[in-house]
Amino acid sequence: MPLRGVEPPHLSAYASETYVYTNFTTAAKNLERVEGIGPSPRDWKSLVLPLNYTRIVGDTGFEPATSRSQTVRANQLRQSPVPLAGIEPTRLLRPQDFKSCVYTNFTTAALVSILYNQILLFPMTQPKFFETLSGEKIPLPVFFPDATRAVLKTLDSTDIKNTQTPGILVNSFHLLSNPGKDVIKSFGGIKKYMNWNGAVISDSGGFQVMSLAKTLGGKNSVTDIGVNFKTDGKKILFTPEISIKTQLAFKTDMIVVLDDFTDPKSNLTEAKDSVRRTLLWAENCKKIFEANTKSWPKRPYLLGVVQGGRFASLRKTCTRELVNIGFDGLGYGGWPMNLKGSFDHKSADIIRQNTPDSYFLYGLGIGKPQDITSLVKSSWHIFDCVLPTRDARHNRLYVRKNASSLDYSYYIPDKSIHFLDKNPISRFCDCHLCQNYSRSYLAHLFRIKEMTALRLATIHNLRFYSELMRKLRHV
Ligand SMILES: [Zn+2]
Repeated sequence: MPLRGVEPPHLSAYASETYVYTNFTTAAKNLERVEGIGPSPRDWKSLVLPLNYTRIVGDTGFEPATSRSQTVRANQLRQSPVPLAGIEPTRLLRPQDFKSCVYTNFTTAALVSILYNQILLFPMTQPKFFETLSGEKIPLPVFFPDATRAVLKTLDSTDIKNTQTPGILVNSFHLLSNPGKDVIKSFGGIKKYMNWNGAVISDSGGFQVMSLAKTLGGKNSVTDIGVNFKTDGKKILFTPEISIKTQLAFKTDMIVVLDDFTDPKSNLTEAKDSVRRTLLWAENCKKIFEANTKSWPKRPYLLGVVQGGRFASLRKTCTRELVNIGFDGLGYGGWPMNLKGSFDHKSADIIRQNTPDSYFLYGLGIGKPQDITSLVKSSWHIFDCVLPTRDARHNRLYVRKNASSLDYSYYIPDKSIHFLDKNPISRFCDCHLCQNYSRSYLAHLFRIKEMTALRLATIHNLRFYSELMRKLRHV
């Protein structure tokens, strides 16, 4: 039976391609303006459904919950032969959802029914691999140490590889400053520049520029256009476009949108504004990303970042609106500690519960083994942190309690205690340090402040983390 059609007004630009819409009447009536978080005036002209329109307005002013299992990508719909019937989902579809489907003559209600049925019949599975641009599939979960300036201090790329570390994270802002985008681009990307064959994630540089701007730039340093700050006496405007284009020039496997960090001390009004700007920039980043990767044979993953600080309703809103824009994964942005100083699991759970199963969940900057372990158990996949390498350079080595344990303790090399200790740092570690050198020798190297001590300790800690992640794949 042919379906009578309703066309939401914002979809008209796509109607001439693969869809035939007729008799549109009801969709516009159901749209309500939600006060609070919304895009800038220029976004009202966008072809994309404005972020602050929703079909049903919930208690908090935003649409009701959509659980992780209740969302589906449009490209999954195309392949299904399931009849058209069902219940309306709680959120409006985006134009790109429509664009990906080949349907003719349908009503809005029928279309959303299709979606809902597909959701029920084809629950999405979680990602199992992180796939690089060259096609290498890295099993999840993964931990990527921070190689901020395209180097893990004291190691070269062969050292990193030998620790079985599958990937690293580099910082866009620092690399944009030195050696500069053009230098890295001339080598064909960051991997070739540093002779690294593993995976690379680039972060947006947002955290660094925000810190600089808020410290040096004064009150109006962060606007909807971007971040204004001074470095080396030069005025710089860092925008979503600069961030995305820089990361694309680096040819990394995952790039991160520019976001407005919610200060943990923010009140509700300030936190709302950071979420509003985060969503505005996220949408800009997505458009720039799509426009600049059209001809790429394989595109990097694009990660949205959830802000909102300690405010549960803002975390929820930010998560859902980012999902509406559409990303490959979402990151836990902002400060992941609560006011009591312990890890903020509540925010992590809100993000997870409101994110489709097919998305990567990324604990940005989260690196304590116990925090990683608890997040992996609740389906988080990717982590990065400076912790293992920084700890290694400060005499702190991680030692597993036994071969199979996730528990660990710290080993502090101490010449006075370990002067005659011929044992390795850990009997349960196969790293270069533990296989070849004694506790006594490492303590000696630290005591005389020899750089080799830092290198060997860093190698050990990275091997501890790569083994931790391997164990967590089977938890
Ligand atoms: Zn070791």
